Amino acid sequence: MESLVTRDNPPSSSSWRPATRAVRSGQRRGSEREHADPLYLTSSFVFDQAEAAAGHFRDGEEGNIYSRFTNPTVESFERRLASMEGGEWGFATASGMAAITLLALTFLKAGDRVVLGRNLFGSTLTLFSKTFARFGVDVAIVDGSAPQDWSRVLASGAAMVFAESPSNPLGEVVDIADLSRQCAEIEALLVIDNCLLTPVLQRPLELGADIVMHSATKMIDGQGRCLGGVLCGRDPQQREALMTMQRSAGFTLSAFNAWVFHNGLQTLPIRVAQQSANAGRVAEWLAKQPDVECVHYTGLPSHPDHNLACQQQSGFGQVLSFAVAGGERSAWRLIDATEWLSITGNLGDARTTITHPASTTHGRLSDADRARMGIGSNLIRLSVGLEDPDDVIDELARGLAAIASVAGA
Ligand SMILES: *Cc1c(COP(=O)(O)O)cnc(C)c1O
Repeated sequence: MESLVTRDNPPSSSSWRPATRAVRSGQRRGSEREHADPLYLTSSFVFDQAEAAAGHFRDGEEGNIYSRFTNPTVESFERRLASMEGGEWGFATASGMAAITLLALTFLKAGDRVVLGRNLFGSTLTLFSKTFARFGVDVAIVDGSAPQDWSRVLASGAAMVFAESPSNPLGEVVDIADLSRQCAEIEALLVIDNCLLTPVLQRPLELGADIVMHSATKMIDGQGRCLGGVLCGRDPQQREALMTMQRSAGFTLSAFNAWVFHNGLQTLPIRVAQQSANAGRVAEWLAKQPDVECVHYTGLPSHPDHNLACQQQSGFGQVLSFAVAGGERSAWRLIDATEWLSITGNLGDARTTITHPASTTHGRLSDADRARMGIGSNLIRLSVGLEDPDDVIDELARGLAAIASVAGA
């Protein structure tokens, strides 16, 4: 499928700087010489002759056959994100969870041991510890994020290690370079969920991870429209293995969603930079409010992982959380007193979203698990968008005033 390198199909030059990769890599131009990247909204592809069709199916000749296997628009998106992550390949799926399912189906078998970070996205924990455990995968969860917490559990070996950094919503940071050294020693595959920071602020492959995973649903879309997921890596045999599984498993990303994400990547660097700056401003303001007990944002020097975050991240992202005085009632009252912040579980949107994790995103966990993870019932999560941060602050001030008026009554 390699086309000639021309102005219409330039190489994704490894000398390009990150912003250029976001805009130019993975570009594909058709015979009409359209400027926008085309959307190949087609389930199958045609052949000139029966023999050609047979050759593709029988001998695996290069070329598109059916969009469950390959689609040019999906490939463009995969190439652009892989280039941004500093990987050799990208592999898109229908959602972030589909990416993790495909990963497990491809690289795990009964009897394998998987080691997971404690503060993973809830569905990731459930998928491994409930579903894959049924198929004979042994699951261990690391209680803590320091290198010695990991080494204690990794001492018993692992086929795959899955971590997320910084975690959502508390921003616990894992030392990815250290963890990758530990994984290399025991020949475990290290997978990092890079959804919160995106390659704009953190590139786990450069820190030694084997595979990076994304929910494209979040910052990559950036406007809360489409579901999608991606894996990126370096070893071409891994991509081959994923493709073999995908051909029969069919967790395929729709070409339309790929086209939305592919275009969304063009503005990812400036969206991430602005949303991070806005989140930093909101976090600093929150930290000074009397009814705010604690703000969790790796950009604040008060965050326990601030120094490590400064080493391995080039920014702190759009997600922060804070605990309010007065428990769950106060948290709900604050949320309800805001006028236009979006009350929804999604994050990474251009519109600021506000969430009460204990009763929504983390609501299915037991009280004990929530307590172990530090998700109190007075915790509120914000994913700060592109509005003027002072307007977001006005909304939060309204919410805090509603708490204070009850407390003072
Ligand atoms: C949303 C999310 C996922 C799951 O992605 P979906 O696209 O919703 O399937 C995985 N990890 C993180 C960190 C997420 O925020």
